[in-house]
Amino acid sequence: MSDLTTDVVVLGAGPGGYTAAFRAADLGKKVVLINRNTTLGGVCLNVGCIPSKALLHVAKVITEAADTPGVHFAKPQIDLTALRNWKDSVVAKLTKGLAALAKQRKVTVVTGLAQFTSPKSIHVETSAGPQTVNFDNAIIAAGSSVTKIPGFPYEDPRLIDSTGALALPDVPARLLVIGGGIIGLEMATVYHALGSKVSVVELMDQLMPGADADLVKPLAARLKRQYEQILLKTKVTKLEPLREGIRASFAGPDTPPPKIYDRVLIAVGRQPNGRAINAEAAGVAVDQHGFIHVDTQMRTNVPHIFAIGDICGEPMLAHKATHEGKIAAEVIAGHKVSFAARTIPSVAYTDPEISWMGVTESAAIKQGLNFEKAVFPWAACGRALASGRDEGITKLIIDKKTRRIIGAGIVGVGAGELIAETVVAMEMDAEAGDLALAIHPHPTLSETLALAAEIAEGTITDLYLPKK
Ligand code: NAD
Repeated sequence: MSDLTTDVVVLGAGPGGYTAAFRAADLGKKVVLINRNTTLGGVCLNVGCIPSKALLHVAKVITEAADTPGVHFAKPQIDLTALRNWKDSVVAKLTKGLAALAKQRKVTVVTGLAQFTSPKSIHVETSAGPQTVNFDNAIIAAGSSVTKIPGFPYEDPRLIDSTGALALPDVPARLLVIGGGIIGLEMATVYHALGSKVSVVELMDQLMPGADADLVKPLAARLKRQYEQILLKTKVTKLEPLREGIRASFAGPDTPPPKIYDRVLIAVGRQPNGRAINAEAAGVAVDQHGFIHVDTQMRTNVPHIFAIGDICGEPMLAHKATHEGKIAAEVIAGHKVSFAARTIPSVAYTDPEISWMGVTESAAIKQGLNFEKAVFPWAACGRALASGRDEGITKLIIDKKTRRIIGAGIVGVGAGELIAETVVAMEMDAEAGDLALAIHPHPTLSETLALAAEIAEGTITDLYLPKK
């Protein structure tokens, strides 16, 4: 195949990569987008954010129906093939949409595994043979891969990662989830709703270790009622494939006896793909973990090569990658922009959901910040009570001196949607009083944000708080 020559090559077509490619094309650049898989969208669209949300939607319908007061539904009958097809159709709609968007912008898509061969060229192994892409600027958006625990029998198909869990091969009678973080608990939510007996093993002393303990508490309490076992401060020391299942051995404070599971999901984090692209041929520095460090304009140590998304650092979140993708493309097009976002929100789409942004309470304490917190319990929120789910809380972290909102955390149904308001508040330098005085529609869960702000302002009437 003849060589391609382009202004900008983007390596990887996940949310960061395709956004960077499309923005660069919109700014008049000739763009080549290289992607390992035939469909665009990366892990997020194909085997991550989107299919998991399609399954979580179904899980929500099942659990809400089971919990509906005064109405008894029959036991749900699950048609796994139809469920799989529906999830796949959601993914296909989005990936096809991306292919159309690439075409409209005249972005050349090359499919195959890419490796740098020099600071100005990339080799791609395509199904039609090797292809060289020569470029003026490159944006590395090669993402991350699942972390593997050495010594486990990965060749056994009953051992799955998030991709395997999303493929929904069956509904195992007993599922062991190793890792009580975001992926582990989202997939546990799905499989529990579909009928699996779920156990979770987490290394740290709480589920979802990045989030504040008071936010995790209502989730942990609900999961404790639903799941077979939740083991904290515990490790799986051995997984043995047997005919009747996989036998897991544990080490922890309680060290339960070994147990047999039909499937084991490993969700203990992700690692950047920095070492998989021969970055050294381009002179791009990769650290010992596989991260590629960038400046605030997303430039690597090689000035015409940029990196965005999971590969350039935590948090490994699609919305961080897309933001960074736009910056890299705009910098290449000569715009004077840099990464200046004040916060990158996090959401765990569990049931209830947990979301947070800005500084967490535990980080604020650790950093010795001069802050106060205001916590509004959803048990005093009409809408939460009317929905039969009043276990949530809405928390604001406020700078004591400036009264500005510097952090927020929410647990409850729909917490992922609610957090967006606080992100805007923080970006706009809003003070607690601004949120309290903005009229929120009644009755909504969004009121809990205004009510938390009213607690901070001392103007709340929906609760009785003795004067300080
Ligand atoms: P994670 O870091 O969220 O959770 C991994 C968990 O596994 C942690 O709680 C960790 O303490 C635990 N752990 C590590 N080693 C262990 C061991 N040997 N035994 C038991 N527990 C162990 O990682 P993840 O859930 O795998 O997700 C990977 C990445 O994908 C994260 O960066 C996450 O932000 C991202 N992601 C985000 C979303 C979302 O935004 N909703 C959804 C899925 C994934």
